[in-house]
Amino acid sequence: MTSNEKKQLVQSELQKNGGVLRFAPCWVARNFMQPGRRLKLDPRDYYAYGGAKGGIDERWFASTTPADNAEFTIENEGLSFVTTKTSSGIEQVLFKEIIDIMGNEIIGEYMMNKYGRWMMFSKFFDNMGPIAHHVHLKNEHAANVNMLGKPEGYYFPPQQNNVYNNFPHTYFGLNPGVTKDDVINCLKIWADRGDNNILDLAKAYRLEIGTGWDVPPGTLHAPGSLLTYEPQRASDVSIFFQSQVEGRHNDRATLVKDVPKDKYYDYEYLFSILDWDLNVDPNFKENRFLKPVPVADTRAMEEKGYSEKWVVYGSSHFCAKELTVFPGRSVTITDAQAYGLIMMQGYGTLNKAKIETPNMIRFGDLTSDEFFVTEDAAKKGVVITNNSDYENIVMLKHFGPDNAEAAHLVKTR
Ligand SMILES: [Zn+2]
Repeated sequence: MTSNEKKQLVQSELQKNGGVLRFAPCWVARNFMQPGRRLKLDPRDYYAYGGAKGGIDERWFASTTPADNAEFTIENEGLSFVTTKTSSGIEQVLFKEIIDIMGNEIIGEYMMNKYGRWMMFSKFFDNMGPIAHHVHLKNEHAANVNMLGKPEGYYFPPQQNNVYNNFPHTYFGLNPGVTKDDVINCLKIWADRGDNNILDLAKAYRLEIGTGWDVPPGTLHAPGSLLTYEPQRASDVSIFFQSQVEGRHNDRATLVKDVPKDKYYDYEYLFSILDWDLNVDPNFKENRFLKPVPVADTRAMEEKGYSEKWVVYGSSHFCAKELTVFPGRSVTITDAQAYGLIMMQGYGTLNKAKIETPNMIRFGDLTSDEFFVTEDAAKKGVVITNNSDYENIVMLKHFGPDNAEAAHLVKTR
């Protein structure tokens, strides 16, 4: 297909659906993790990419950001495809290409002029056990490997957390009183004696379904085993500070994955990747824990047939809402910006597109549970109709940078 043909295809899809695009499910496997099996994939398909590449433990949303799985990375891994049904069959086009070709029509002039691309993606992160204490780089360190710094945010949706799995606690930061030498010592000994015991320097928090966390770049975190909805800046940049997890060894290469070669043994540099004050903040939970915040007066929303809350906020780079539309109700919802969404519960319509929440998905199959709403449609307002007599529609909506409606929730520190 030529660029022009792709543009025409997308334009007719937008017209047909009323400013809404549908995505194909985008599955990502990680060979150092064990799948948590709550992604609604058919249980026979968690290793559909083959055993060596590892199990599927992530589903990515509205992504123009490739997944980085070193030598195990496959073509277009982590990239969302817009899917259309035409008279000649199913056509799929990379969302990234569509933004390149017609970004103004999809995410709007402001985003294209300021960023030149779609600057975020979201994912479900679904593991059986905990993952290593790791850190996402700040801009200054990410720039040294031609990447962007990466803040991320978490929300633990009830619909896909019917089990907590092995370790529903996340370590954040470092205990107040921990010194620079303590941290550097853990990095120096790495795996000499197996575990470098960096978790002895940190505090874990029990994860609570229906809440979340704000995780700025430079913050150490060892995520626990709840399924996590995770909006983040468009970047896949991180390094591990923990040499062993559940008895499994992490190669030292994971410590220097996104570090320039001449800094591999530069402990001052590795240490400087941390945002020290954030890590040893004695009020870490008070400052970073996220309780849902209603977007407007609760009673007024309920009278109109819905409820909407900010569930991920605090960063200026992205934010996310949980929208609930009550059974049998039809509502018009406006937003300040274009957004991606994933259905968590229920079925009905979104403008002229059918929306439904699948119970089980075979690897490679299409769904009607993930969409993108253009800036224009978001600002005019989309009509969502819940066709069930009993069940709510619940969806999670992820937004890019500079959302004016969430500006009051942005944390400067
Ligand atoms: Zn992380």
